[in-house]
Amino acid sequence: MAKMRLAAGDTVVVLAGKDKGKRGKIKLVQRSLGKIEVEGVNVVKRHSKPTAKNTKGGILEKELPMPVSKVMYVCPKCNKPSKVAFAVKGQSRERLCRRCGEPADRPVKA
Ligand SMILES: [Zn+2]
Repeated sequence: MAKMRLAAGDTVVVLAGKDKGKRGKIKLVQRSLGKIEVEGVNVVKRHSKPTAKNTKGGILEKELPMPVSKVMYVCPKCNKPSKVAFAVKGQSRERLCRRCGEPADRPVKA
């Protein structure tokens, strides 16, 4: 399993599939599965019957998890897709943009 280089809140760009080229923020990271959910990407429509929670039912839109290999990190500083480098800082690994060298806002656990 490759190391997870992405964290919730990161912006990524989609590299393949129907949403290729789309950018979105990561909503959820499933580390063990190597999958992420990205806002507005890989959206499916679910027809649902009325339930106690959702009294009207109807069509729900939901993002499906997708493999991290299908996206690339977008650096918040230079606003370009970039590879991620790591610098170990105490208990956490600081992520650095390989393009501009700026650290990402959210370090990931080592
Ligand atoms: Zn950068």
